[in-house]
Amino acid sequence: MTLLASLQVSLPIALQPFPTANRRCGLVIVDVVNGFATVGAGYLAPPLPNDQVIRMVGECERLARLFLERGQPVAAFLDTHEPGKAEPPYPPHCERGSGEENLVPALKWLEGQSGVTLIRKDCINGFVGSIDLATGRNRMVDWVNEARLDSLLVTGICTDICVMDFVLTMLSARNHAMMPSLQEIAVHALGCATYDLTAEAARSLGLPATATHPQMVAHHIGLYLMASRGALLVDSVE
Ligand SMILES: [Zn+2]
Repeated sequence: MTLLASLQVSLPIALQPFPTANRRCGLVIVDVVNGFATVGAGYLAPPLPNDQVIRMVGECERLARLFLERGQPVAAFLDTHEPGKAEPPYPPHCERGSGEENLVPALKWLEGQSGVTLIRKDCINGFVGSIDLATGRNRMVDWVNEARLDSLLVTGICTDICVMDFVLTMLSARNHAMMPSLQEIAVHALGCATYDLTAEAARSLGLPATATHPQMVAHHIGLYLMASRGALLVDSVE
């Protein structure tokens, strides 16, 4: 049995449909920027075309059009760092002005669209990155509350990193009654992706064995942990 098949037995997940047409649902797109999702665009970008990433980008584009046509709001996080200011433990990525910090070509049209809120963030966790240090206000919390959203559908990259940290923190914030209208946080499994780094690739890059990150396994574990904290895992939206 493969490791993934074994995980599906020992850490099972259940996907379900999540109709969004008749809800006050907002779409959240996490970090679908060149530096993470465009082939060869940076140190953390896929080195070669990757099926999971291609599918994720396609689902984000499809859902963004669907939500905006129906008048439902879309928020997109864009990982963005000031040049020279590190984000340990990661190598430099998505530096402002490099182009890596901008939406991938398939989503570029979201810039300036009515109904779209872009949030640049300088850390993994989009909830933390939404905090305005000058005022203490949280742009994501304000976005949910202003639209009185009852649910969020979350997509993006990486399933087990930026998507997961955001979803886990939003579940706590919801339970802490920071967003009184918010009931459900759903994660679109096919609309999420993570990166692949085989043990051999890690070795050839001079990275420790602990940097190994098998894509399908890491994706599964991310989904499992989000579901275990109360997120709904979704396989079809409409
Ligand atoms: Zn970053």
